[in-house]
Amino acid sequence: LVVLTDVDKYFGDLHVLKNINLTVGRGEVVVVIGPSGSGKSTLCRSINRLETIQSGGIMIDGSPLPSEGKALARLRADVGMVFQQFNLFAHKTILENVTLGPVRVRRKSKQEARAHGMELLNRVGVGNQAEKYPAQLSGGQQQRVAIARALAMDPKVILFDEPTSALDPEMINEVLDVMIQLAQQGMTMIVVTHEMGFARTAADRVVFMADGEILEEAAPEAFFTSPTTARAKDFLSKIL
Ligand code: ATP
Ligand code: MG
Repeated sequence: LVVLTDVDKYFGDLHVLKNINLTVGRGEVVVVIGPSGSGKSTLCRSINRLETIQSGGIMIDGSPLPSEGKALARLRADVGMVFQQFNLFAHKTILENVTLGPVRVRRKSKQEARAHGMELLNRVGVGNQAEKYPAQLSGGQQQRVAIARALAMDPKVILFDEPTSALDPEMINEVLDVMIQLAQQGMTMIVVTHEMGFARTAADRVVFMADGEILEEAAPEAFFTSPTTARAKDFLSKIL
């Protein structure tokens, strides 16, 4: 569903993605881990074209990434993204946050978008907050709204970039639980996280990045119990 071939990305002289090859099949959950600055966010941002790559190819469901216009808006709907900072529209209600995209990009009627939006808000456990504004919700609730907003677009894949890193510890599990549920329901997911419990429970594969390269790719148990590179061993010794 998501295929990256020989992807290179530079910021000026800085080579941040080095010959990345990665394939994520439909329904697969891939967890990306690695030290700070290794290029994990840039990888996610490149997949929905918040960043432009300099060489190589990225295909979503058989099509190359469009560069502009309506096709780009559709791509961003197909490739949902959930950020560390929830990025909700502060001046819109929770329900408006999840219905705007479907109405504008998916051409749904307001009524249909609201019905689907309420269903999703209920699914992530914040249906009773629909008429509030983001600032009135806890971080964990806001992040669940952000997940509902991505889901409202009927995405083909959702990218999560450290979705629980900005949360107070007691709110981490309520977000991870929603993500585990999604994984079990067959959503295709690429998840940058250091939550190894999530990786063990939900990931089909773990990808380890360092210095812009993918150094290892393995099933979670294999990776955690017997990483093959010194970089991965060192990294795991610090976080586990
Ligand atoms: P972290 O774990 O800290 O989030 P990361 O693995 O997500 O790190 P990236 O944010 O992808 O790493 O950054 C990769 C490299 O690219 C870093 O050296 C970073 O400083 C650099 N970088 C990221 N965004 C930009 C930008 N807009 N302009 C210039 N350099 C950037
Ligand atoms: Mg990052």
